Amino acid sequence: MGDAPASGAARVYFRPSFPFYFPQMQCRDKCGACCTAPSITSPIPGMPDGKPAGVRCVQLGEDERCRIFGRPERPAVCGGLQPSSEMCGSSRQQAMLWLDQLERATAP
Ligand code: SF4
Ligand code: SF4
Repeated sequence: MGDAPASGAARVYFRPSFPFYFPQMQCRDKCGACCTAPSITSPIPGMPDGKPAGVRCVQLGEDERCRIFGRPERPAVCGGLQPSSEMCGSSRQQAMLWLDQLERATAP
């Protein structure tokens, strides 16, 4: 988009007066909802058949952080899941609810 002219007689140029920058949402401390609510079909160390929905991942520490973050054995799907206002909501309860609904909606 940027400076592309708009269609029509009047040429209106899109020049934002401020950067359209939306900072990446940060993962909430002590949440762990997305390591509990969804199912994961790929193997996880300690869960060779993956993880059922609603079950806490064995790699989720008591501090609600991933014990294998950054390691190659961490499932790729985990790295692909980024915090977002839609998923994370404003509380762990909201995130659990949203992820549970997503799980049901995408169940085979
Ligand atoms: S649901 Fe969002 S806030 Fe909670 S652990 Fe996952 S990414 Fe972090
Ligand atoms: S492997 Fe780590 S990031 Fe993936 S579900 Fe388990 S605790 Fe969460």
